[in-house]
Formats: sequence, C-alpha cells, structure tokens
Amino acid sequence: MIGVVGGGIAGLAAAYRLQERGHDVQVFEATGDIGGLAATYETAGDDIEKFYHHLSKSEETIVELAEDLGLGDRVEWRVGTNGYYVDGVVHPLDTPWEILAYPHMSLYDKFRLGMLTLGVDVRGGIPDFDAYDDLAAYEDVTVREFVEEHTTTSVYENFVDPLLDGKYGDRKDEISAAWFLGRVRFRGERDPLRGEILGYFDGGFGALLDALVDAVGRENISTNAPVTDLTVEDGQVQSLTVDHGEAQESAEAQESSEAQGSSEAQESGETTHDVDAAVVATMPNVLESLTGYACEIDFQGAVCGLATIEESLLDTYWLNVAHDAPFGALIEHTNFIERERYGGDHLLYVAAYVQDSEEDLWQMDNDEVREAWLAEIESMFPDFDRPAVSEFRIARNPRAAPIYERGYLDLVVPYHLDTEVGEGVYYAGMASAAQYPERSLNGGILAGYEVADRIDAALGDGRQSDSAGDTAPEAGFDFSGADGVENE
Ligand SMILES: Cc1cc2nc3c(=O)[nH]c(=O)nc-3n(C[C@H](O)[C@H](O)[C@H](O)COP(=O)(O)OP(=O)(O)OC[C@H]3O[C@@H](n4cnc5c(N)ncnc54)[C@H](O)[C@@H]3O)c2cc1C
Repeated sequence: MIGVVGGGIAGLAAAYRLQERGHDVQVFEATGDIGGLAATYETAGDDIEKFYHHLSKSEETIVELAEDLGLGDRVEWRVGTNGYYVDGVVHPLDTPWEILAYPHMSLYDKFRLGMLTLGVDVRGGIPDFDAYDDLAAYEDVTVREFVEEHTTTSVYENFVDPLLDGKYGDRKDEISAAWFLGRVRFRGERDPLRGEILGYFDGGFGALLDALVDAVGRENISTNAPVTDLTVEDGQVQSLTVDHGEAQESAEAQESSEAQGSSEAQESGETTHDVDAAVVATMPNVLESLTGYACEIDFQGAVCGLATIEESLLDTYWLNVAHDAPFGALIEHTNFIERERYGGDHLLYVAAYVQDSEEDLWQMDNDEVREAWLAEIESMFPDFDRPAVSEFRIARNPRAAPIYERGYLDLVVPYHLDTEVGEGVYYAGMASAAQYPERSLNGGILAGYEVADRIDAALGDGRQSDSAGDTAPEAGFDFSGADGVENE
C-alpha cells in the first residue's frame, strides 16, 4: 500500500494518479474535511471556498483533470474585473481607456508597465518578445531592482510597491523578481477590451474535490486521521502511524482499520500501516515533524473574511487597496460569479496576509478582526450599509503561501527524499518545485502527479504488498502539526 499524508488537492491528485497506475492507496487527512486550503463553506446555494480561488488561463493540468473526471463542461472562463483603491478613489483598470485614465502614472509609465505585462522587453529600443520566459533567471533579483531596471522608478513606487506592501509587508524588499514575473504571467491573460480572463468551476472548486474523492474512493480516504509518525528502517520507509484520537473499540472501527491493512493499537487510538512508499502532501513543517527534514522556506499566514451581504459593495471583482488598511484586497466574488448561484446573496472576501504571528491582525480574535475590517470598509465606502452584512465568516491559516524570497529555488523540497530521509519517502506539498514561483491548485496537482509517476517508476508492476502488517505503533510522538484551515 502507498500511504498519502494530507487530503488537500496535492494528496488527492497523487492518490488518483497512483490508482490509475494500479497501486493500492490510502489517504490520511488530519482534519474532518478534505480539501485543505481549498476547503469550502456552505452558502444559500453552491458551496464557496473559504479562501478566494480562481484559475489562470495558463493552468492546463487542472482543466485536464476536470475533463478526466467528467467535469470538463463545468470549467468556466470569465472576465474578472480589477480595480485599484488609491487616495479614497476606486480606479477600474480593465479596459484600455480605464488604464489610460488612471491618474497616478504617466502615459510613458503605463506603456512600460504594459509592455512588461505582455512579456516584451523594450529596453534598448528593439522589442524582445520572449525576454521573460525563463523565470528562474530572475530568482536572485529583487522586485524593486527588476521593475526599476525594466520599467521606471515611478512604476515601482506608484504601482508595484503598494501591491507588494499589501502582500508581503516588511518582507517585500526580499521578494524575488521571479515571483513577480510569475504573478504577471499567472494573471496576465486578458480580453483586450474587457479585462482579465479567469477560470472558475460551476459548483465551485468543491465540485472538483468531490469528484476527486469519488474517483479515489471514500473507502481509501480517512479523515480525522493525522499521521503522527513515519518509520524508516535500513534506509527504506516502513510504515505510517495514524492517531485516531479516541480508542477505537467498535467492531466497525476494527473492521475499517483491518480493511486498510493496519495493525491494531486500539488502546491508544493509533494504527500503524505498512507502506511501500509514503507521500507527504502537507506543509513542510509536518514533513519535518515526521521525518526530521527541515525546509528553510518561510511561510506567510492568511486571514480571509467572507461577508454575506444584501447589497453589492464594489463594481469590480478584485480591488487592490493601496493604503494602510488592515487588509490588502477586497474581492467581490459575486461580481465574478452570478449571485443567483448563492441564493441571491452578494459574497465579499476581505483578504489579508501576515508575515509573522506577532502582527496585530494575527493576535486579534475573530470579533476584533471583523470589527476592524467593517469599520475600515465603512470609512472607505461611506454608503456601505453595515446592517446589510448578514454573516461574516473568517478563515485563518498560518501557512497560506511561501514567501518567495531571493534564492527560493535552493530551498525547495525534493520530490523524492531518498538520500535525505529514506527510500520511498516522497514530498508533494507546497514547498515543492511545482508550486514555484506561485502556489496554486494546478501546482498541487502537478506535484501530486510528479511523485505518483516517480513512485510508479520505482515500484514498477507487482510491487504491491498486501500491507496487512503487524508493526507495533511507535510511541511517544507529540502531534502538534496538522495544518488545516481554522475557521469559525
Ligand atoms: C488566501 C488563498 C488564496 C488562494 N488563491 C488561489 C487561487 O486563486 N487559485 C489557486 O489555484 N490557488 C489558490 N490558492 C492556493 C491553493 O489553495 C493551494 O496551492 C493548494 O490548495 C495547496 O494544496 P496542498 O494539497 O498542497 O496543501 P493543503 O491544501 O494545505 O493540504 C494539506 C492537507 O494536509 C493535511 N495535514 C496536515 N498535517 C497532516 C498530518 N500530520 N496528517 C494528515 N494530514 C495532514 C491538512 O489538514 C490539509 O488538508 C490560495 C490559497 C490561499 C490560502
């Protein structure tokens, strides 16, 4: 059996691909829900992601997966309109005339920034159309150095810096130009007359997760099943230990753990599963807890509110906020997807990133965050009607995205940790190369597929064990690392 640690998109994609290749797989998810960072809330209609999500046109693997799962016709490409809030004014930035009318940049600056977003280097007077294809070439350059050299200082100061500040705060001066270029590329597909083209699923990304769970088989996915130990002996992975919390005494639980090829440790509520290979598809701190492999990538946290409102607040889907607000963006989902899908409600995300746990926003409880955010929205939009907010849910995650600093590629976790940890130990989480230079669902699927293909090549045909092992569970590990979404 191949054990997969983590039931986010990467773990599920790995399990799906491994099963396609004929392997016996079991996914262990620490929380009660699958989906990880892409988990959803219920609404009066379709479920919606706790953290805002959309697709970029350049992401093909997720679309292919949807097609494989029979959901190809549910991938929708729509215009996601953008605006920039500067000095008390919302500036829409979609059509050429809106961009021309934007008052905080000169015409020349707009031309230079426009060329950069099209991937054209106009320095020296002769346009180079493929100038920015090799993102890794900009890995050691800061965003400021890059933007000042490839456009102008005022493009950096008046346009890029406030965005970078909103996303990375006091880490902004170390962010690599490779991330910036990847971002430009990720969000670079435009309808010339209407704005940016972004993707979504009819039914939300939960529809894709549900189809993936069905394809993998619910009997092959255990929830509330944190993996607390990974045993390597003689340089080869042997087993995973799962903590089920309460001791499993019922006949049903006994039957289920036997069906998963596990030994019984019912008194402690732990089961140990012999594995031919293990895929760790979690944040790297969990990998470190399980294997001792330390990844030096720093992560930023996210606090993301979802307001259900009777009235629309914005005219755009996405509004970047260029001032010292306690959030970086307002994202009115129902200006992207029609509100009829959510029982007629308007849905507005309020999104903020935190760089360390000492920041005020991270220290505040949810009531304080809600109050600070709604008060700020009231001051930004005097017509905002606070009583029209019928619900305000907040999700937090301490590891929402890597901080893509210079030199990042040297820190990514290898897919196969054979020399670092042991033969048969694989990593498909957010610190893998597929999630560079921007993390995404597509990247998670790519990472899952990559390790599945490597495992398939390594194990080949007929190396499936029946896994009915009888290893005693390892004692004494203090689990503290499930990286699920916290919300209220
Ligand atoms: C605010 C925000 C906005 C985003 N916007 C977009 C977007 O617009 N488009 C896009 O494509 N992507 C977006 N993403 C990124 C996307 O959500 C992630 O890249 C993707 O979900 C990562 O999947 P994963 O499986 O690697 O990790 P995760 O989703 O983190 O899954 C890891 C899973 O492992 C589980 N786990 C942890 N420890 C253990 C353990 N010991 N045992 C068992 N299980 C364990 C966790 O509970 C979790 O379910 C966004 C993310 C955030 C936070």
